[in-house]
Amino acid sequence: MAEATGFEAVVGMEVHAELLTESKMFCGCGTQFGASPNTLCCPVCTGLPGSLPVPNRKAVELVVRTALALNCEVNRACLFHRKNYFYPDLPKAYQISQYDVPIGVNGHLDVRVNGEMRRIRIRRVHLEEDTGKLLHVERDTSFVDYNRSGVPLMEIVTEPDIHSADEAREYLIALRRILLYIEVSDGRMEQGSLRCEPNISVRPRGTDELNSKTELKNLSSFRVVYLGIQYETARQALALEKQRGISLGASATVPGQPPLKVDVRDTALTQETRRCDEPNLKTVSMRTKEYAHDYRYFPEPDLVPVTFEEAWIEGVRAGLPELPAARLHRYTEEIGLSEYDAGVLVEERALADYFDTAARAYGGDAKKIANWMQSDWLRLFNAGGRDWTGVRVTPDALAELVHLQDEGKITGKLAKSVFETAWETGKTPAAIVQEQGIEVVGDEAQLLPVIDGVLAENERVVADIRAGKVGKLNFLVGQVMRVTKGSAAPDVVQRLMRDRLGLT
Ligand code: ZN
Ligand code: MN
Repeated sequence: MAEATGFEAVVGMEVHAELLTESKMFCGCGTQFGASPNTLCCPVCTGLPGSLPVPNRKAVELVVRTALALNCEVNRACLFHRKNYFYPDLPKAYQISQYDVPIGVNGHLDVRVNGEMRRIRIRRVHLEEDTGKLLHVERDTSFVDYNRSGVPLMEIVTEPDIHSADEAREYLIALRRILLYIEVSDGRMEQGSLRCEPNISVRPRGTDELNSKTELKNLSSFRVVYLGIQYETARQALALEKQRGISLGASATVPGQPPLKVDVRDTALTQETRRCDEPNLKTVSMRTKEYAHDYRYFPEPDLVPVTFEEAWIEGVRAGLPELPAARLHRYTEEIGLSEYDAGVLVEERALADYFDTAARAYGGDAKKIANWMQSDWLRLFNAGGRDWTGVRVTPDALAELVHLQDEGKITGKLAKSVFETAWETGKTPAAIVQEQGIEVVGDEAQLLPVIDGVLAENERVVADIRAGKVGKLNFLVGQVMRVTKGSAAPDVVQRLMRDRLGLT
């Protein structure tokens, strides 16, 4: 690993997330993904002269929500700026963004990396608009689709507090989970609604040297982000070694992956943008990076500053759901779940909500509900591709099932089959138990005639038992279970049978 060479990575992460709004940032056009090209456009989002932007209130609120969830300070007045650059997917030749006064600043997100808590500081959370999309169809032919142009886009930037690919991955997983919990983004990387751009530099461990950094773009999954950071760390470490005339043979390995081989011809250290060549497990240069002043930022003259009242911000804060970290803490500290089990439940908000609702409906030890969810529930949920429309066992039904078990009305084994039937049919456990007549019979008056019948039919076995072959008792109990089609309570049958035979 690159770490072994005595270098450490210094990574800052920039995440862009499209916001879950019905309409665009500065006009009323829709934001649906996958619509026919250029059907969600108007003079504002295609930058026609004379059109004027009107900010989307909902988008502003979603960014404030995110800023609060990431422990940021919210600026009471924020400004929009123009970020000027020329590119065919940007019809105005500038992007309306935020510059020196963004919505949120100075936050943090704590993430667990290999069992240790790490605090990643959040430098800023700001609001801007997305660009259009270029479709390169063949050589010399490209199309542009402006449906995405002007979709509300949030940018979340960390301080350079990330020092490994593992930390980057955990940060991204935790951040994405929060965005989903607070319902500001759908977090779909494959549709481009969540995009990550790490910037990476390398320095000798223990120094605060600043070397030129590279930025990775167009990363399609967290796995690619991980690979890209691994590779860049190794490549830049090798470059530093070369510069200093030492050779330590940097290479990087990713668990479960072939070792990354650094291309020794590609070790110039320069500020540039690179992309990840996933099949070849490496990064390649795209272009040298524009510097901030190239964008000629200036305040957007068509928009006034957006100001927030304290009470409104507090209203947004009060509307935040319980966040994953708080839930994890509650599940481990108050309910007594293991860190792992609690982690599985908080992974997805709907799952944690389901658990909470079922535990409340049950009213007893919530661990019993958790046990069901960890085993059969999640097994079937995962088998169905984690599709919530396939979940027909309601939280109330799960609570009812555990109650039936508590009351001794069904055995653990029957409970499993009742659960599966409930999962398939959506019927309640009580209805299934009644329909199938599988309620456990523990009533002595009902069981005694059956027991006496079995004893009368098996005189030879009874004689053997009386002669000391007590092991044959199981055979008789089995006969009672057969006659009652498995509904007799085995412990009650045992006890009554022993009574009848005069065994102690
Ligand atoms: Zn529009
Ligand atoms: Mn941006």
